[in-house]
Amino acid sequence: MAEVYLEKIYEYSSDIEYFADNFFSRNSEKFNDCEKILLKPNLLQSAPPEKGVTTHPEFLRFVIKSLKKHTDAKLLLADSPGANFENFGKILETSGIGQVCDEENIGIYRVESFPPVEKNGFVYSGIADEVDLIINLAKLKTHSLTGLTMCVKNFFGLIPGTSKVGYHRRYPDGSDLGSAVYGLYKQFAGKSLNLLDGIIAHEGEGPSRGKPVMAGVLAAGADAGAVDIAITKILGFESEFCTTNIEALKDLSESKIKLIPELKFNITLKKPVAARRVHLPNFIKKYAAEKIYVKPEIIQEKCIKCLLCLKSCYADAITFDSGVVEINKDACKECFCCHEVCESDAIKLKRSIMHRIFVR
Ligand code: SF4
Ligand code: SF4
Repeated sequence: MAEVYLEKIYEYSSDIEYFADNFFSRNSEKFNDCEKILLKPNLLQSAPPEKGVTTHPEFLRFVIKSLKKHTDAKLLLADSPGANFENFGKILETSGIGQVCDEENIGIYRVESFPPVEKNGFVYSGIADEVDLIINLAKLKTHSLTGLTMCVKNFFGLIPGTSKVGYHRRYPDGSDLGSAVYGLYKQFAGKSLNLLDGIIAHEGEGPSRGKPVMAGVLAAGADAGAVDIAITKILGFESEFCTTNIEALKDLSESKIKLIPELKFNITLKKPVAARRVHLPNFIKKYAAEKIYVKPEIIQEKCIKCLLCLKSCYADAITFDSGVVEINKDACKECFCCHEVCESDAIKLKRSIMHRIFVR
């Protein structure tokens, strides 16, 4: 049985520390002989905690307080916010994570400052191999490409900077990317513990351009896939809506997941338009498939020409000519990375007419 611990919490209070105490006690063997422990939050971009884009700083603080009771190991924190990795300092400041680390005396590292490791077909930061345990501090958010992002997807941040773009190139489809990310997670499954910050979650056009929502969910488990599958069901979505679950379900059936306690939640998150699935009869699908799409479009008045979108685009569909950033819709592969990284809200997602008709 894979145990998933649950709690309903509507504020970032010391109840999180109590919850973490209980979870860490039940998994105390993971701390045996640990010398270095990595805290891996979600630091996607420069957003304040109330936006629900990044792991909440008080969530981090209470987990650190609990960890210090369970281990003398050195704690360090690292992440990579994709193409935005050069702005790491600003992200730490805006998210409040930097201040908590200063106050709790936790060293902060950029994932890119460790040499990349190539193993079993995956490329990831060497920091993951240097530590004895990874405390995965994921955020509950919707995701335009993978449906939801929770514990498994948070391991994607162990891939250095723009190398993430290569994963999108190799796995342009959301289901394939989800399965690849699950494969990456499995490299660390035996040396990780997962806690999910779903107190303020993120819905709609996630993982960064949607809206914060008070969901009141706190979850934890030694198996990241089990936590994600359990939360997907709690949200009322079919398990495969979160595409990292597709591969996880081959390792673990839903009947093998035990909720502790068996709490009932009355929440759902608004799905991103691009992640809504199309269920059409084959004869319509054949005719309409190419006409059903969601493509990004730049709002020129808002664009500050930071070029983060261009650096994130594996399809070379974004150009910067004569001072104007533009998207070539024909070249676009609908990965939505540009939409995710734009901190100026200068990219909107536009649905085709057929998408509006067929996808609700
Ligand atoms: S669209 Fe956004 S990410 Fe791209 S250059 Fe403009 S402001 Fe930067
Ligand atoms: S234009 Fe945006 S959505 Fe299209 S392939 Fe490039 S990054 Fe992905």
